[in-house]
Amino acid sequence: MKHSELSFRDSVEFMFNRAAKFIDLPTGLKEKIRVTNSTYTVRFGVRMRGGIKTFTGYRSVHSEHMEPVKGGIRYAPSVNQNEVEALAALMTFKCALVEIPFGGSKGGLCINPADYSEDELEIITRRFAYELAKRDLINPSQNVPAPDMGTGEREMAWMADQYGRMNTTDINARACVTGKPLGGGGIEGRIEATGRGVQYALEEFFRYPKDVAAANLSGGLEGKTVIVQGLGNVGYHAALFLSEECGAKITGIIEVDGALSNDNGLDVNEIHQHIANNGGIKGYKGGTYIENGMKLLEGECDILLPAAIEGAISTENASRIKAPLIIEAANGPITAAANDILRDRGIIIIPDLYANAGGVTVSYFEWVKNLSHIRFGRMQRREEEGRNQLLIEELNHLFKNANIPVEFSTKFLRRFSRGAGELELVRSGLDDTMRLGYQAMREVWRSRPEVGDLRTAGFLVAIRRVANSYQAKGM
Ligand code: NAD
Repeated sequence: MKHSELSFRDSVEFMFNRAAKFIDLPTGLKEKIRVTNSTYTVRFGVRMRGGIKTFTGYRSVHSEHMEPVKGGIRYAPSVNQNEVEALAALMTFKCALVEIPFGGSKGGLCINPADYSEDELEIITRRFAYELAKRDLINPSQNVPAPDMGTGEREMAWMADQYGRMNTTDINARACVTGKPLGGGGIEGRIEATGRGVQYALEEFFRYPKDVAAANLSGGLEGKTVIVQGLGNVGYHAALFLSEECGAKITGIIEVDGALSNDNGLDVNEIHQHIANNGGIKGYKGGTYIENGMKLLEGECDILLPAAIEGAISTENASRIKAPLIIEAANGPITAAANDILRDRGIIIIPDLYANAGGVTVSYFEWVKNLSHIRFGRMQRREEEGRNQLLIEELNHLFKNANIPVEFSTKFLRRFSRGAGELELVRSGLDDTMRLGYQAMREVWRSRPEVGDLRTAGFLVAIRRVANSYQAKGM
């Protein structure tokens, strides 16, 4: 079916409707699952710079089939109700697909953080948090925000502290937001989580030769060329892990002020540092600079990894995209109309509702950690190390008694004898989540050809799970 460009929210609804057609549900339940439950708009004034400045923010709750509801808070001048509702709906389906027991929510503040000092941002953030918390739109058992574009650990720490001041006897207050700094109730591995999840998603995809062949590729991730759009939190970590741990080659990086390309591979860390020092990629010497960065989305590569903004691939450029495989690290980087153009051209898309679920997965671990008031691994790490040590000693003893000249390698001994700390456990839980999420999606994609693509399959799995949850508890 051909259709012109839709708004972001309509795009998500279009994809929902396409998948919902393949599921038999009681009358009215599909509609209940599709609609956004509520969107709260707040306008608040902050005294600053000799006057009062008014800000507009949103918190949208798409589905409360499970609580708390979960979703990031975005700071950008372009934030609007349509976008926040689209992102909240995506959160519902993302959580369901990767079996995170949360409903979907999202928030945003219309602000360009670069226009304000740190002190001003703290006052604005605390005031926004106050407005949301007093309506239970920040609450450990009802609504738990996280970082998104333009926000990070710092903003989450301010929000958590603000909530704590308003709820001084709530022992679980720290679980009111995730993505906090480690010293403020955060968890190891949260910052890297979404990029790490993108890595695990690609690794899982490449475990299925049939799926790889569907993208006209072969082999594993080693040596694959990747173009990344957006070297922020998600794009940087994904590019770093893919190049350093999987042997992929980052041949293009697109940022706001242009793009860099190098067929021999770009140094992700160097470019990240260059951006931090210079405010953009311009002037970096290790690659060819392209002023019209968007053009590089159409560059030759094996994998295209949009990790910046929604609508990056639209009807305007979809027919010229050359990558046979796209992984949506950002939310909504491909419009519904562009999705169909790419689909018709046989390009395989690993969809956002799965690909960037790493962030919410580790947020879930952080929330569980906050509620249990104990760091993961604290109880079992040394016990595990003791047992492994015992096993090595016993084997050495047996080998010696049997006169078998065997010696374990130092590398093996180091890896085997080390008990898992929080970071290892978080990565293990994330890897497991990403593997199972892909398997659930591909099972439908492979067994029901009429479904047509991974995105529709992912939505189908998610809608079925949300429906099961509603049906189990009753409306
Ligand atoms: P970020 O603000 O850290 O990074 C975004 C990057 O994209 C920045 O480097 C920015 O300069 C660049 N960018 C912005 N507009 C661009 C353009 N037109 N062309 C090229 N580059 C551009 O944000 P983030 O947290 O990395 O989020 C990126 C995307 O990933 C968003 O869609 C977000 O919703 C999604 N996401 C983020 C998380 C998370 O944990 N941070 C989780 C899930 C999904």
